[in-house]
Amino acid sequence: MARNSNIEWTHHTFNPWWGCKKVSAACDHCYAELWAKRMGHQLWGADSPRRFFGDSHWREPLTWNEEAGLLGRRYRVFCASMADVFENRADLNSQRLRLWELIDNTPNLDWLLLTKRPQNIARIAPWGARWPANVWLGTSVENQALAEKRLPYLLKNPARVRFLSCEPLLGPLNLQQWFTRRDFHPIDWIIAGGESGGASRPMHPDWVLNLLDQCRAHKVPFHFKQWGQWVPAELAPGTPRVRLLEFTNERSVEMVRLSKKLAGRILEGTTWDGIPHIPLTHA
Ligand code: SF4
Repeated sequence: MARNSNIEWTHHTFNPWWGCKKVSAACDHCYAELWAKRMGHQLWGADSPRRFFGDSHWREPLTWNEEAGLLGRRYRVFCASMADVFENRADLNSQRLRLWELIDNTPNLDWLLLTKRPQNIARIAPWGARWPANVWLGTSVENQALAEKRLPYLLKNPARVRFLSCEPLLGPLNLQQWFTRRDFHPIDWIIAGGESGGASRPMHPDWVLNLLDQCRAHKVPFHFKQWGQWVPAELAPGTPRVRLLEFTNERSVEMVRLSKKLAGRILEGTTWDGIPHIPLTHA
């Protein structure tokens, strides 16, 4: 079966519903909202409805699970690209119950629950101190202030894997304390990348290189997803219209605006596709 996602770090994407409300700077150019609008749906904001789906949609992961079982492998399922599983709205509760049941019924799938609302996890997730082994739990952190705010909520959950999505990376991140603290569960995986889309903001190369160094130092798998729309000029020789960009508190750097595809995902001369390998019995 073909994977249904173009995202490099997952095999499939599943959305229990569509719609959300913006919560931080990373949401400014939310591609999910743009995509929903393009499809004719107004689903963003506290007063907008969410879009729910029928039985055939909810059966898809059962098919992926069956195939994974037959092949003797595991598929990663990113949940959700068009919503936030931990958005605090009463009308989502019935859909969430259906999702928890689906997770229970698909033991060959690793469910990657990624949220910008980790403060809601403990109250909304049904698993308390015993999380199912097929859930990986992640939060998005685009800058240091949000890392300080969100990591304490993420890292107290005993999921099998805890991961960070640092995309779009909008500032430097110093995660040292979280790699070494014994009073929290560890960070098991870091994904990083720059922003894509029309109004994308450039990612300073030092921010992502520094994050890579931290991952190397603490032996945490690192996945570099993309430069996004802006790439250091030295990685695109011969490209016209190179711009010297000024960053607050950083050295100025020459960058060039390219398509996401042309900008690519090469960092320090190679691709970074790190993935955690944590036994199923961990959680
Ligand atoms: S949390 Fe995610 S889906 Fe929701 S507005 Fe922000 S970027 Fe979009």
